[in-house]
Amino acid sequence: MKLFAIVLLCVALLGCGKAPDDTPSNRTSTPKDESVRRLSKTKDSLVRFFQPMDVRDGDWLRSHPEDGETFEDYVESRPTRPTAERNKIYVQPLGTFSPAQMKVVKLTAEYLRAFYSLPVVLRDPNPVEKVPLEMQRVQYPNNRQIRTSYFLDNILPPLLPNDAAALICFTNFDLYPEDTWNYVFGQASLEARVGVWSLWRLERDGQKRTDADRFLDRTLKIATHETGHMFSMRHCKKYECLMSGTNSLDETDRRPLDTCPECTMKIAWAVPYQPAERYKNLAEFWRKQKRSSEEKLMLEKMQAVGGVK
Ligand SMILES: [Zn+2]
Ligand SMILES: [Zn+2]
Repeated sequence: MKLFAIVLLCVALLGCGKAPDDTPSNRTSTPKDESVRRLSKTKDSLVRFFQPMDVRDGDWLRSHPEDGETFEDYVESRPTRPTAERNKIYVQPLGTFSPAQMKVVKLTAEYLRAFYSLPVVLRDPNPVEKVPLEMQRVQYPNNRQIRTSYFLDNILPPLLPNDAAALICFTNFDLYPEDTWNYVFGQASLEARVGVWSLWRLERDGQKRTDADRFLDRTLKIATHETGHMFSMRHCKKYECLMSGTNSLDETDRRPLDTCPECTMKIAWAVPYQPAERYKNLAEFWRKQKRSSEEKLMLEKMQAVGGVK
């Protein structure tokens, strides 16, 4: 049995995406695209807001050597991007949620909308019932765990709309990917555009309840990080970045809520969106949460990239 905590199954997500618009014309035209040149320049103005990656003992990069990925690498990789037909992010709660959990799921849907500048649809919760015995276990007292493949193979595919760029599901059950693992925070299938993540551990620190802001931040980080993978973004190692791999909740807590200059421009190009407009929307999200330091940071970044015209 593996005795260490396993986070996010990020490895399984890498390199699975195929570009839906993988045509010869796209292959030759995109790297020299005017928007690529413009965004390459813009990213320099954001460097001062981010710290170079600091790898500590036990961190993801100690045990998972990775190449990293610049903005230009991403463009060259012909990533999966939202298209006119598939441009919505669906958020689906699965199970019976407490008011505190439902609040976090609602805010996560709002944050995803600002973060990716894409339409987000929050669906009503679906019950989780009649889980087959071989798809569940009680490993710890009072903690019924459900196997991720039950969601990925049985529950999620029929829930996926045709216009979904991604279907992000949250459950309040603890999850495990296979019998030899203690637990997992979540798992996604890139090709199927679906993923399921558990809130169970995000609102706990050992025996204690996590405070509300930290519970929200962890959920926002997981939702935006995993959606980034669904748009073929690889892990980042240049900066302390939302798209860096994490090996533990402690490492997740140390990472910022936003993407670094390289990763911000990847999404700006892939969606596409105007960076200043996005920062304005993110500042508005934080203003509503009364998180003034996050709001101020987003407004400073908005000015750094030229402000909203
Ligand atoms: Zn990851
Ligand atoms: Zn990054």
